Amino acid sequence: MDAPYATFEQLEPGVARLLAHNPSAFTFTGTQSYVVGSDTVAVIDPGPDLPEHLDALVQAIGGRRVAAILCTHTHRDHSPAARPLAERTGAPVIGCAPLTLEAVGPRADASFDGDYSPDRVLEDGASVEIDREKLIAVATPGHTSNHLCFAWRDVLFTGDHVMGWSTTVVVPPDGDMAAYMGSLDKLRQRQDRIYYPAHGPAVTNPQQYVRHLMGHRMHRERQVLNLIGEQPRDIPDIVANAYPGLDPRLTTAAGGSVLAHLRDLERRGVVERQGDIWTVV
Ligand SMILES: [Zn+2]
Repeated sequence: MDAPYATFEQLEPGVARLLAHNPSAFTFTGTQSYVVGSDTVAVIDPGPDLPEHLDALVQAIGGRRVAAILCTHTHRDHSPAARPLAERTGAPVIGCAPLTLEAVGPRADASFDGDYSPDRVLEDGASVEIDREKLIAVATPGHTSNHLCFAWRDVLFTGDHVMGWSTTVVVPPDGDMAAYMGSLDKLRQRQDRIYYPAHGPAVTNPQQYVRHLMGHRMHRERQVLNLIGEQPRDIPDIVANAYPGLDPRLTTAAGGSVLAHLRDLERRGVVERQGDIWTVV
């Protein structure tokens, strides 16, 4: 795929991007790490622990002081480079919480970075200072329970909460559709000029885009409800009907997304399950 790997792209004053070489059906062309600031910098989503990506990041930083290494969440394509980059730059790892493995059994699967250990966790609204300007954490659970966006000037770094190329994956048990919708609504009420996501191009019409994403999920929810309203169905049956022509590599993710909708509807008392079969109440 033609993508700017290992090329440091200055997007606007104080915002530069470096694309890691980890393309896939879930990461598009790969993970985009952002370098924020001018004299002092922060690195957002250092990415997968790939030696050439780490070398390119260190080269792009070019000896400037790194005030913080920030992760939006702890999927393996985002946080594993945090510790090695901290070792090479002396910067602290600050940002999202490590995933808590409690409540309803193990919440983490193979896509989570279990080695992530931040020096400081940012709560919603907490900030770090870069070039005397605040970079502020915006808690946005849904894609994962520990997901943060980061606000800087009128820019929002959206991680995987809002992506530029595809709708995000929301898969239980850690992914939560109601939380995700709440986090979209939170963004809808903000006045950001532009979103820089971890995957795909920048979003230059944030308000419109977020409304579109919310509409898309509400449409999907209605579709799932209509399908099990016709007859009781299991998840593979719902996926086959709701996602015609789906890339087979995405069948599991689509099933997870349908499950996220069903759990949300179940919590609201709209549907119920017997074994694998879902029905409308
Ligand atoms: Zn993710």
